[in-house]
Amino acid sequence: MNYEQLLNQAYEKVKVTRECCRFEIPRVSGHHEGTKTIITNFAQIASGIRRPQGHLLKFISKELASLGEISGDRIILSRKLASKMINEKIERYVNTFVLCSKCKKPDTELQEEGAKLFLKCLACGERKEVHRI
Ligand SMILES: [Zn+2]
Repeated sequence: MNYEQLLNQAYEKVKVTRECCRFEIPRVSGHHEGTKTIITNFAQIASGIRRPQGHLLKFISKELASLGEISGDRIILSRKLASKMINEKIERYVNTFVLCSKCKKPDTELQEEGAKLFLKCLACGERKEVHRI
């Protein structure tokens, strides 16, 4: 590897490790079909906050008292809901299950330990028990 390549590699590393701007919570987009609500970018939202679709859906459907079903990249909720309400629930989910309570960074992961669930921060090392859905 020559000097220039080394330099490029170093730049790449800087780019990856550089801290990003504020964490943006993705907004839902979707529509109503009869009495149902379809969210078309659900898979995108889940991957944006790095959480499994099933876990996020479980939270949302419980909070909104409606049944939810994953269908490809979309979910179908059994009630007619305003997207504002769904966005609020996703925000609540992110605050509880994604953002570190100490440093507020999103670099976290959920860890199961027996019957307990913990939110572990990869940035500052904080580990906090969170409730199971
Ligand atoms: Zn932290």
